Amino acid sequence: MQTIDETKAHILIKQAEQITFLTGAGVSTASGIPDYRSLSGIYHGIERPEYLLSQTCMREEPEKFYSFVQTLYHPDAKPNSIHLKIANIAKIKNTWVISQNIDGLHAKAKTQQLVNFHGDLYDCYCRKCGQAVSAEAYLVSDHHEQCGGQIRPNIVLYEEGLDEQAITMSIEAVAKTDLIVIVGTSFQVHPFCDLIHYAKATATVLVINQTPIHLNREAYFLKEDAVKVFENIVTEEL
Ligand SMILES: [Zn+2]
Repeated sequence: MQTIDETKAHILIKQAEQITFLTGAGVSTASGIPDYRSLSGIYHGIERPEYLLSQTCMREEPEKFYSFVQTLYHPDAKPNSIHLKIANIAKIKNTWVISQNIDGLHAKAKTQQLVNFHGDLYDCYCRKCGQAVSAEAYLVSDHHEQCGGQIRPNIVLYEEGLDEQAITMSIEAVAKTDLIVIVGTSFQVHPFCDLIHYAKATATVLVINQTPIHLNREAYFLKEDAVKVFENIVTEEL
């Protein structure tokens, strides 16, 4: 990867007509959302998230599942400069956001062309009757008032496949864009990281991260705090 400075990154964003952002946990840490997949954090010492967030746990130990899933919710978290500036860019350029995050913050920032690749905690439904239920209601009880069924969030659990439509939309968004911006992700989770293989050969790839990532193609790399980089983008100049 070719290391560049912030000015060059801003120029790449300015020059692009279509942009697809691929975002990960790093875009939400500034909003106070911990990365639940990093085992070192708040879950150290309890059962592995791979089990607690599995379909087996949801079916066989619903209380354990529910009490763990509740810890993932941060309903008062607000979108930060990254979410907000991306939503602003989307008003000017044809922009898609494909996020690994389940925290709903891109949606809160009013990003329209959005794919939540691993689902959304704030999109809940009853497993028994299929009815949509608000996250507020789910956080009060995981029993659906109307039918007594188990409520769950529409997130991709371990042992579950990804949503076909999310994959199709993501591939289309990556395949047609001229700039791909990878932000706040180590880009190691499959199949999310495989999306890059659908990019046009002529597409430019820009990585804004604290650490480099592995890509099998040329890319620009800006080692910087993404919050600062996005704060400094002047929307009027795009
Ligand atoms: Zn129900």
